[in-house]
Order: sequence, then C-alpha cells, then structure tokens
Amino acid sequence: MAKPICYSTKAFSTTSATTPLGATTIERRTPGATDIQIQIQYCGVCHSDLHFARNEWGFTQYPAVPGHEIVGRVTAVGNGVTKFKVGDTVGVGCLVDSCRTCPDCRAGLEQFCAGMVMTYGSMDRHLSAPTLGGYAQSIVVTEGFVLRIPANLNLAAAAPLLCAGITTYSPLKHWQVGPGQKVGIVGLGGLGHMGVKFAKAFGAHVVLFTTSPGKVADGHRLGAHEVVVSTDAAQMAAQAGSFDFILDAVSATHDLNAYLNLLKRDGNLVLVGAPEKPLPVAAFPLLMRRRSLSGSLIGGLPETQEMLDFCGQHNITSDVEMIRMDQINGAYERMLKSDVKNRVVIDRATLP
Ligand code: NAP
Ligand code: ZN
Ligand code: ZN
Repeated sequence: MAKPICYSTKAFSTTSATTPLGATTIERRTPGATDIQIQIQYCGVCHSDLHFARNEWGFTQYPAVPGHEIVGRVTAVGNGVTKFKVGDTVGVGCLVDSCRTCPDCRAGLEQFCAGMVMTYGSMDRHLSAPTLGGYAQSIVVTEGFVLRIPANLNLAAAAPLLCAGITTYSPLKHWQVGPGQKVGIVGLGGLGHMGVKFAKAFGAHVVLFTTSPGKVADGHRLGAHEVVVSTDAAQMAAQAGSFDFILDAVSATHDLNAYLNLLKRDGNLVLVGAPEKPLPVAAFPLLMRRRSLSGSLIGGLPETQEMLDFCGQHNITSDVEMIRMDQINGAYERMLKSDVKNRVVIDRATLP
C-alpha cells in the first residue's frame, strides 16, 4: 500500500525508557474514505501509558506517544463514512483497527484479534510505522473504531471510560457480577475507582482493598460498602473465604495468594492490572476451594459502546484531576507512588 498523504500535528512523546516526555510534531494520515479525523480535547492518563513509555512490557519502539483514553470532536470525515459527521463528540480507546474477519472480530471481541492494532505501540497499517497515541492535537481513526459519547456526560470525565471504564465493566459483566454477590476491587487508582462504581451500579456488595490508609474515605465516597486496608493482617483475615469475585487492578508486584484466600468455593480472582514482573501463585489457595485465577483485557467495540451508553443512562463518569500537558512527567511519578485515587486527564488545549 502506498503511503498516504500526511499532515503534521503537535504531540508529546518520549525517545527512550528513561527520557521524560516532551513536545514534538508527528504525522497523521489525511483521512481516507472510511476515516474520521478527531480534534482531541481530553486524554486520560492510564498506568499502561507509563508501563509503555518506560518499556516495562518490552515492546516499545521510540519515539513513543502514549494515550488511549481519547475524546474530542470530529473535524473531517471520509466520503464513505456513514456513522459520524463533522462536529460529533466521539471517543477512541485502546484499539484503532483489527483484522475484522477472525472469529474474535466477528464476535465483537476485537481486543483478542491476533491482528488488532492498538492506539499506540502497534504497527500502523497505513504508515508502516508504530501507531502514536492520544497525547496529541488530533488523530485519524477508521470509523468502526470510533465511539459515540453520550451528550449528557462531562467530556473530560468521560475520557477515562475509554480504557479504565471498559476494562472494569467488561469482566464484571462477563462474570455476571450482581446483587447477592460479594465483590472485591483491589487498588484504588484509575481502574479501581471505576471498578467500585460499576460493581456498585450492578448491585453487588462492594469491598475496596487499598494499601493506602489515606484512601479509605475516598473508597466510601465512591460507593464501596467496606474498605479494607490490605497491609493490615487482621482486616485481611476477617475477610477470608468470603468473596464471590475479586477484580485486581494493581499496577505493581503484590501477593495474589492473599486475595485467592479471600475467595469462597468456586470464587474467581480476575487480573486486569498488568505489572511488569510475573506474580508468583501458590497451588494450595487455588486447590482448596476450586478457586479460579483469570485475566481480562479492555473490551471489544460493541461492549465499549454499550458501557458508554450505560454510563450515559446512569450518569457515571470518572472522577478526574485535570493537568496541563507539560505536567505529565510529574503525573507519572505520582502514579508510581500510588498517589492517584481517580484519573488524571490532560487538557489538550495546553499542548505547547
Ligand atoms: P493507577 O491509577 O496507578 O492505580 C494502581 C493502584 O494500584 C494504585 O493506586 C495503588 O492503589 C495500587 N498499587 C500500586 N502499587 C502497588 C503495590 N506495590 N502493591 C499493592 N498495590 C499497589 O493505575 P491504573 O491506570 O488504574 O492501572 C492499573 C493497572 O492496570 C496497570 O498495570 C495498567 O497497565 C493495567 N491496565 C490493564 C488493562 C487491561 O486491559 N487489562 C487496561 C488498562 C490498564 P492503592 O493505593 O489503593 O493500594
Ligand atoms: Zn489504559
Ligand atoms: Zn480479527
């Protein structure tokens, strides 16, 4: 495929695992027939952005532009676009394309497609270069991977739904979390705070686990019925064997066995957190009560739209802290210290 005509757009990138992010200019393709050009207004800051910028998962190519919680307005559409028009308010999450023909794609589970194209860090089929994410002024995405944002939602607070939202909504739905169940959410960060909101909205009894005593009140304010400080052995022991389901949204090394021991017979611990290093699992906590350990990756396009519509109906958004683009490196340092209890969101208008 010949390289399409491109235009320049401002962005924030990093050139190595140890270099702070800084201002740059990148190329985007001019919109093709089925493409949507979006002027980005806000972009959420996911811990995955940090793992990626610092090459903690080992596949980063530089220069790298993170950002996959993108909301903005449509500024141009290709002549074959049917679902969107200029001026629409839209979102883009972690995926910008997939093969569209495999069983996963046909099931609307594009996140499991072997040919999925991530918003950053994948090979861009049009430009034969790594895809570049949402810490930028604009982005061009094929219309099937663009989502509609309900008009009643605050736009900045809706941005984190595109990753933190769907990543917590999808496993809670898949494992049918609901009334009568005791559900744990581990880690009060961007994902964890959305996990508490969705588990509560689905009618479960919600217990937040945090290593940060300073976040206990936040957990209650978000709707958790109980908040457990996980570094307190007595508080953990009091919860043993009592959970139907636990969603683990922790970004760093921690003890999974401590959470497996909190599950009932046939209970399930689901990882959404993606720490850099492997997490040791002992056999006995799994054997003893036929417990399961599972994982879940974001969500497909149909379910992401379903989640956004659910948020529109129930008026659910993320709790956000706005930052300027040039505050991003400090925001990463705060995430590493567990000093974020909601989602940091970049106001794209501050891109220098
Ligand atoms: P975040 O905002 O930084 O929150 C992570 C939370 O984990 C912290 O606030 C802290 O909560 C807890 N934590 C951190 N270090 C810990 C440690 N050493 N021991 C125990 N708890 C610790 O991160 P996020 O954006 O929510 O992302 C969380 C993880 O999910 C990341 O690894 C990210 O890459 C991954 N992720 C996965 C998917 C997916 O599709 N599966 C999608 C998005 C993100 P407390 O202070 O409450 O303890
Ligand atoms: Zn993310
Ligand atoms: Zn596919």
